[in-house]
Amino acid sequence: MHTKTLAELSAALQAREFSSEALTGHYLERIGRLDPALNSFVTVTADEAMAAAAAADRRIAAGEAGPLTGIPIAHKDIFCTSGVRTSCGSRMLDNFVSPYDATVVARLKAAGVVMLGKTNMDEFAMGSSNETSFYGPVRNPWDTARVPGGSSGGSAAAVAARLAPGATGTDTGGSIRQPAALTGITGLKPTYGRVSRFGMIAFASSLDQAGTLTASAEDAALLLGAMAGFDDKDSTSVDREVPDYSLHLNDSIAGLRVGIPVEFFDEGLAGENRVRIEQALDVYRHLGCEIVEVSLPNLALSVPTYYVVAPAECSSNLSRFDGVRFGYRSEQSGDLFDMYSRSRGEGFGDEVKRRIMTGTYALSAGYYDAYYLKAQQARQLISADFKAAFEKVDVLMGPTTPTPAFEIGAKTADPITMYLNDIYTIGVNLAGLPGMSIPCGLVDGLPVGLQLMGPAFAESRLLQTAHAYQKETDWHRQLPAADFG
Ligand code: GLN
Repeated sequence: MHTKTLAELSAALQAREFSSEALTGHYLERIGRLDPALNSFVTVTADEAMAAAAAADRRIAAGEAGPLTGIPIAHKDIFCTSGVRTSCGSRMLDNFVSPYDATVVARLKAAGVVMLGKTNMDEFAMGSSNETSFYGPVRNPWDTARVPGGSSGGSAAAVAARLAPGATGTDTGGSIRQPAALTGITGLKPTYGRVSRFGMIAFASSLDQAGTLTASAEDAALLLGAMAGFDDKDSTSVDREVPDYSLHLNDSIAGLRVGIPVEFFDEGLAGENRVRIEQALDVYRHLGCEIVEVSLPNLALSVPTYYVVAPAECSSNLSRFDGVRFGYRSEQSGDLFDMYSRSRGEGFGDEVKRRIMTGTYALSAGYYDAYYLKAQQARQLISADFKAAFEKVDVLMGPTTPTPAFEIGAKTADPITMYLNDIYTIGVNLAGLPGMSIPCGLVDGLPVGLQLMGPAFAESRLLQTAHAYQKETDWHRQLPAADFG
């Protein structure tokens, strides 16, 4: 069953080829047997999943099913789930049980999906390798000595190993696209405001966006359709109709103008990765697309800009974790100040502390103009570059990451080297645009991702463009070795 895509599983459930209970049981068995090698789940909700599957089967039998009824998925542990722990990969929230569901969770539940559990992630979504989790690193199913990418690494590894046919993730600077690329799956980061952030634990509020990790673009279309849309509980969610993303998937992309930003093909891009990207562009040429070179001249500013803006916002967002209102409180607290500082000192890991300190510094009175204001100005320049490019082309394409997955521990000693992994993904977040990563080949047995970027609210176009490629190729169907050897 697990070799089928989510869309194929949906069709099989409707055709009563098997029940949701059988399907859910199958994935739970795989999680139990295979996840110890990956560490992709923090919490497995087996009993709740089997009960939800039985309820879904009753809906299917009564003829009341939608396309997602009875489909098992996993949620990144950043989304609040009523009655089920939401840890955000942190000791700080190791004991936090939310009294409500995030809008994303509630909408998918209403569409009939079955939650298998909550996936591991970088602590508070800060990371590019899934090595900063309180629950230990996640391993890449293609080579368990390597990282799966981050911060939605648990969701990516789980889908890549087919421990779930799909999962939710969040992308602040690349955290859906980058792990999707490194584990050989399809990741979609929608336009800022397309999906509600209500109940999604905030990292950098002007950049965070929820999206999907799936085997295919067709699967992403199904999940996004159920997640997207206005929510009056999120003041940045956009009141705009949600198209039927599945409807135009098969439209021809002949004549599509594809822009290739020269800055994506710099000396940082590994040679073999470049070859895979060029081969993917050949497929698009063959499909009748016009490939043109474009420039995003300020792209080099995106990493330094992001690493001021995101820490600044996180230093504010994470101030609520004070040992009083949520989560962890130090055992040895003295006075109030001592309790705050011990609880935060013990509850947060090193990377989170580094971000809070950088952000607090950038926002402090003497440095605000030099760092934060400057970063906001650079952000405008980057947005303007994308805007100008989309006057000439319909989509942009390039690599998602400079290299395939690296070994666990290879970059943990040097934060700057780690931050440079995000060079190709961060621009899209700063500009609030949609982006995708789709698998386009292997280098030494490790997956490579092709990145697709579009103007605001062009998710349909991106999905259609990705689907056209996936009809021509079968990279999205390739699976890691069954035992992850
Ligand atoms: N790697 C980036 C960071 O560490 C992006 C993380 C994300 O998108 N959540 O901030």
